Amino acid sequence: MSQKKPAYQRILLKLSGESLLGEVSYGIDFHRTQSIVQEIKEIRDLAVQVAVMIGGGNIFRGTQGTQAGMDRSSADYMGLLATLINGIALQDSLEKEGMMSRHVSAVEIEAVAEPFIRRRVINHLNKGRVVIFSAGIGSPYFTTDTAAALRALEIKAEVILKATKVDGVYSADPLKDKEAKRYRSIQYLDVIKKGLKVMDTTAISLCRDNNLPIFIFNLKKKGNIKKAVLGKDVGTKIY
Ligand code: UDP
Repeated sequence: MSQKKPAYQRILLKLSGESLLGEVSYGIDFHRTQSIVQEIKEIRDLAVQVAVMIGGGNIFRGTQGTQAGMDRSSADYMGLLATLINGIALQDSLEKEGMMSRHVSAVEIEAVAEPFIRRRVINHLNKGRVVIFSAGIGSPYFTTDTAAALRALEIKAEVILKATKVDGVYSADPLKDKEAKRYRSIQYLDVIKKGLKVMDTTAISLCRDNNLPIFIFNLKKKGNIKKAVLGKDVGTKIY
């Protein structure tokens, strides 16, 4: 059978910190990182341009600090730094798979990552380099989901592929309700109105205001990144 053409030329893949946990309960499972990177290679081999926004929840989230009485901004900066650690690991794995990459941080840390310069990032993508965005948008009170939406718009990605642990957006919790159905697609406003916790509302609103689709899919099923890029029915499109 002939290879189907990708549905997108440039994508932004949102990976949560949790997606790097694999078999460990804290930090980074390097086998997991490597297998995610192999999936990224599959879509690079289709000549799809790939930017990744990496989260930090496997190491630290701002809320852990605030719950312990920390100042919100300080706690969030700790979360930001966690994403940088993941970015370094991801870049190392990408290189081990023979892919060219650039690590772009929203906070200055020139020894390990370059600053975000939009035109430079687009140039990297055009040259086939995988761009890893870390440190979110560089400010506290935000999440890496919102940062994913912002950067996707800036680099003119055609879609955000949001990797999760579930097969998409459901009408109810599929673990509790046998009648729960996966939506093939759902509108931004319905996600917000129904209070579906797939992405934070700031991120969804930003996508809605700018007509940027989000595709929610299950990263735990091998091969799903490629299937999502090929436009197969493996998740839910929010549009
Ligand atoms: N964070 C932030 N500003 C940003 C992005 C992230 O302050 O623009 C902080 C925030 O504390 C967050 C942490 O970094 O809890 C890790 O990011 P996130 O929770 O989005 O990671 P994920 O859930 O995707 O692993």
